[in-house]
Amino acid sequence: MDKDTKILITEIPGEWTERTRSGHTNIWNGKNHDRPHRNGLPEVRLEPPEKGLYAERIDGAWYWISGCNKCNGEVGKWSYIVCDAHNVCSCCGTHRSQLTDIPWGTRDGFNCKPCQERLDAAAKAEALAKFAEAEYDDSDFEYQDECKCPHCASAIHIETEHYGDKTMTCEVCDGQFELTLNYEVTFSTKVIGERVSA
Ligand SMILES: [Zn+2]
Ligand SMILES: [Zn+2]
Ligand SMILES: [Zn+2]
Repeated sequence: MDKDTKILITEIPGEWTERTRSGHTNIWNGKNHDRPHRNGLPEVRLEPPEKGLYAERIDGAWYWISGCNKCNGEVGKWSYIVCDAHNVCSCCGTHRSQLTDIPWGTRDGFNCKPCQERLDAAAKAEALAKFAEAEYDDSDFEYQDECKCPHCASAIHIETEHYGDKTMTCEVCDGQFELTLNYEVTFSTKVIGERVSA
């Protein structure tokens, strides 16, 4: 798709300003739980003439313009919509319509299941090979700054709200391990009542 695509939307009056999006659908004066929009205008839903286009108000008129980052040359950024030609696996280029399994979403698209499995297997093999070379001992997995898998030494990020002692499965090597949180004890004191003095 041409990144400079600009198709006038004749169905929508230029004075309308309330437009929301739901997937590829563009909705003007969207209803709020079946109640008409507070501006009193009728709800209108339009599908773009081609996937990857969305409606934008430019100089008081509505146009279909390209919203596909890959068409627009904005590589590496998350795209809200994607055109049909770019709706493909980032690794092997298989079109989404040809997939038989649910793909893995990535920052700028998706990986098909066979590709993701290949990437995961390669990451696991690499981590285990490094581990075998490194000659770790138990102390390398105690009192660490981060949660480190004892099978493959991959660091596993844990959000603070998920801190706790638990059984975990490594996302790199699938190995199971036990996580224990260690707390360092420190002491604080404050005078009660009058300070005792000489
Ligand atoms: Zn595209
Ligand atoms: Zn693929
Ligand atoms: Zn691991």
